[in-house]
Amino acid sequence: MKNKEKNPENKSRYIRISYTLTEDTPVHPDLTKISITPKNQIKEGDSYNTSVITAENHSGTHVDGPAHFLRDGRPIYTYDPNELVFHHPLVVNCPKEPDGLIVQEDLAPAFSEIDEKELDFDCILIRTGFSEYRETGTDMYLTKNPGVSPEVAYYLRQKLPKLRCLAIDTVSMSRFGRMQEMIDLHQTAFKTQEDLGQPLVFVEDLDLRPIHEGMTLEEVLVIPWQVGGIDSAPCTVLVKIRE
Ligand SMILES: [Zn+2]
Repeated sequence: MKNKEKNPENKSRYIRISYTLTEDTPVHPDLTKISITPKNQIKEGDSYNTSVITAENHSGTHVDGPAHFLRDGRPIYTYDPNELVFHHPLVVNCPKEPDGLIVQEDLAPAFSEIDEKELDFDCILIRTGFSEYRETGTDMYLTKNPGVSPEVAYYLRQKLPKLRCLAIDTVSMSRFGRMQEMIDLHQTAFKTQEDLGQPLVFVEDLDLRPIHEGMTLEEVLVIPWQVGGIDSAPCTVLVKIRE
């Protein structure tokens, strides 16, 4: 009812599902801590305000390009904006215990009642619910996150030939502290292979809480920082919704 009053014509609008980058953004101990340092300050007598930002490119909500794990993979700064706009997104609920592995059986039911020819999803957003630890249990959020198994990346690329983006509400697509699993997952998603569609990009550390049941997702826009030469970048993610 409230929504109707606010939005009488039931028009589409954008919501943001990327986090604001702050000095409190949880990052792994082996990443550079984010610093945002005021340089010029009007309140200190300067004529204008400026700040110096230091952040590793995999901090906060960010998009991984294939160059993150592949010598010949594409870096994110080479992507055309249209390659990072998705018109057939799907949120898949996948509640998992801490450190849980997301396997094919967790995702397959989402596609079971859809005709093969209609499986035109280009962006899958996995909702584990783990965001609840981001503010209150940082150590849990950083080191016990559920992660996607390498087999799932292969399964999704085969099942969904239009898929270009896999996104998740955890700090990383892969579980913490499992180097081989992490390498296999990223390489499976990013490699070029004839029987698979386009190499994927990953979006990690997303906030899917603003997306509610009953919303229709019309579009997802991934907008990375335009920084030359880097494999991956922090990004803003917008979703066009109708409710
Ligand atoms: Zn990353």
